[in-house]
Amino acid sequence: MPHYTEALARSADGSFDTSKLRMRRASATLRCMSKRPLLASLGFILLGFGAAAVYFLATFAPVPVDPAWAVEGDATIPPGSVTVRFTGTSTLLFDDGETAWMVDGWFSRFGPLALLGGKIAPDRSAIEAGLARNEVDRLAVVIPVHSHFDHAMDAPEVAKRTGAILLGSESTANIGRGWGLDERRIRVAVDRQPLRFGAFTLTLIETKHFEFPDPAVREQALADPRISEPLVPPVGAFDYRVGQPYAIHVLHPHGSFLIQASAGYQEGGLAGFAADVVFLGIGGLGTQTADYRESYWRETVDTSGAHDVVLIHWDALTGPIEGPFTGEVRAASFLSSGSEETRTFLEEKRARDPQLRFRTLPRYDEVVLF
Ligand SMILES: [Zn+2]
Repeated sequence: MPHYTEALARSADGSFDTSKLRMRRASATLRCMSKRPLLASLGFILLGFGAAAVYFLATFAPVPVDPAWAVEGDATIPPGSVTVRFTGTSTLLFDDGETAWMVDGWFSRFGPLALLGGKIAPDRSAIEAGLARNEVDRLAVVIPVHSHFDHAMDAPEVAKRTGAILLGSESTANIGRGWGLDERRIRVAVDRQPLRFGAFTLTLIETKHFEFPDPAVREQALADPRISEPLVPPVGAFDYRVGQPYAIHVLHPHGSFLIQASAGYQEGGLAGFAADVVFLGIGGLGTQTADYRESYWRETVDTSGAHDVVLIHWDALTGPIEGPFTGEVRAASFLSSGSEETRTFLEEKRARDPQLRFRTLPRYDEVVLF
């Protein structure tokens, strides 16, 4: 876009003639060259661009998890079980047969070009299909862990369709307001205040987002964190500012769990929140330093005392919402690089603690948690 404006300005101030002259000179030079080598070089250039485009836009980085950690859905669900279903990224559905609730509820998917330069809006048919694939039409509450598009953008529509309360930060509340969700269905979380939904006691604990090591990416994703007015889509992907990120601690008569979807931590923030299972976000972790990874592990898994870790937020934001999970397209290198480091880090953790168990969940299929 800026190039186009520049070109117009240039022609307006009269220097257009100069570029015309330059073009005429260039085409004269080209005419001097014989046609066949020229076509060949053009062909090579186009092939080069084509190969680069295919590499960056249509190939995926490897996933940072071992396929051996994958579990399958349970064929029979004993009555009274607490179950979980996974859509991808950190969209999770928990259900104890009486009460169902969801983390994020994100079903829209966009290509890397739309995310980097275009405008996006919740995809109603994807949300409808996503809820159907999760076999759910009633939810008590939907909780975006922070306000970035891949967590919060669809939650107001999910709340509208399922009767859920939208619970999250003031920024998430403004995403709800911008989508026309009734104010009575919007609830702003209070740090560390437990809330009861059926037999689930949910506590949202203020935490930090994953710290992108690249300063430009960090600025784009994390600076100016608040959405201070109702956000009306379509908007740019980065208009979904981060807002306040939360960890979610869950107590149920059958067991306890902790959800840390973004790989960030607040020093000492989770002290006292013991859990049987941790849903651990590992997106981008491999791009950080070894020290950061160790601190993250200590502040989440070690602090909770859990030896059962369900890995989340490791699959592509731009990938399909059906079928096998993929790593990120290479164009989204700030998300996709570092997967080998992440996997090595996890494998070393497991080698040191024989009690430690990693799991990745199937897409949509119901898995018994307790
Ligand atoms: Zn985020």
